[in-house]
Amino acid sequence: MSSLTSQTIAILGAGRSGLGAARLARQQGAEVIIFDEGDAVKTDKLDAEGFLSVTGQAARDLTVKPGEFQQVIISPGLDEHWPLPKKFTDAGVPLVGETEFAFNLTNMSMAAITGTNGKSTCTELIATLFNGCGFKSVPCGNHGMSLSEVVASGVNYDVLALEISSFQLETIKSFRARASLWLNFAPDHLDRYPDMESYFAAKARIFENVTRDDFAIVRAGETVHTGLAQRWTFSAYGEAADFTYANGGFYHHGQKFGSAEGLKLRGKHNMENVLAALMTGRVFGLSRTEMLKALAEYEPPRHRCELVRTLRDREYINDSKATNLHALEACLRSQERPIVLIAGGKDKELDYTPLRAQLNGQVRAMVLIGEIAEQLERTFGDLLPCKRGKDMAEAVALATGLSQPGDAIILSPGTSSFDMYTGYAQRGDVFREAVNALTEPN
Ligand code: ADP
Repeated sequence: MSSLTSQTIAILGAGRSGLGAARLARQQGAEVIIFDEGDAVKTDKLDAEGFLSVTGQAARDLTVKPGEFQQVIISPGLDEHWPLPKKFTDAGVPLVGETEFAFNLTNMSMAAITGTNGKSTCTELIATLFNGCGFKSVPCGNHGMSLSEVVASGVNYDVLALEISSFQLETIKSFRARASLWLNFAPDHLDRYPDMESYFAAKARIFENVTRDDFAIVRAGETVHTGLAQRWTFSAYGEAADFTYANGGFYHHGQKFGSAEGLKLRGKHNMENVLAALMTGRVFGLSRTEMLKALAEYEPPRHRCELVRTLRDREYINDSKATNLHALEACLRSQERPIVLIAGGKDKELDYTPLRAQLNGQVRAMVLIGEIAEQLERTFGDLLPCKRGKDMAEAVALATGLSQPGDAIILSPGTSSFDMYTGYAQRGDVFREAVNALTEPN
């Protein structure tokens, strides 16, 4: 008999993580009810699988009686201090994060990836390396299938490439991975965390339960404490590290072990992602030559420094996934052409003044969009020409007008998109459409 039989479990959040957790809980014999305060929540998938759900006003009006539920599983998009989770915890129901919940129901080996930027790219790279070397792997967690969905699917993977966000790490208890990756750290999500220290502390929990047999793969110069794990460092920016990238080659303690020639990924930031992925492969004993072969076939994901089109000797680049300043800086650093930058979006209370030093010389002009357009104009207006675009089509037209042959016109917003779009992917698609609608001069 399984451990959850005779339990009634509440699942908070009706998205992918919630649905995965619901399936998993039911497989283990629990009664499940899903709660979501959203008014526009689509419950068709839940209904189709016969799950009871309470949404919208009914969820907001909910009262929870002590003893009614034995556990409450919270999706990573929700904060445990919000009213809905608090109703459960105030009634004494133990709260468990979705990742922690699924982790406790599987024995599969894991590589866990966190960082402010590069998580998705690195997660995909790791799964690609394992699959290319004959091991069964899947990118999951905060990227693609949730951990619960993977565990509930019953498929046995050799190693999971698990992207894990600070939100998911906030609610872990025993979670640990054989390889834990810390790609980098920079200010972000200050709309959800009271300060940078809290965001850092949440992320640093990835190392909380590591043992001497585990590995911490960490960018050189990062101050994070990695517990008992064996610490391996990496750098593509010339810092001393165990694994380095320089002049097109990958090195381990100064010995070249591979070349970046033929890779479709661009920029030193991406070479750090590649290094971290290769190091992960090494932890699990993958063959160096097979890993390099798999890497060469890897197609980078969309919306991340993606070349959309070359028109009249201008390159139009979609980096819509740059939702914070650190990603924007990495994108600028990876470019050799003069740039006309399209930036702006939702107000995440980030400070953009550090960017002033980098813009000088490299960025010819800026076109500003979204909620923070005016703020950005105040920050950069004395340095370089700034114009404001009311929508993406106008921004692309203005940027084209400000550019010269040989330039790159880049959408790298440096913040999230929710003031104008449903997410970075829609923002990137709208940019591509606007660029593809530009016509060649007669
Ligand atoms: P995440 O999943 O952490 O958001 P992505 O791989 O989706 O990471 O990349 C997000 C953004 O950060 C993109 O704009 C990308 O070009 C940039 N980026 C990717 N890897 C790095 C890195 N190692 N350092 C800095 N920026 C990066």
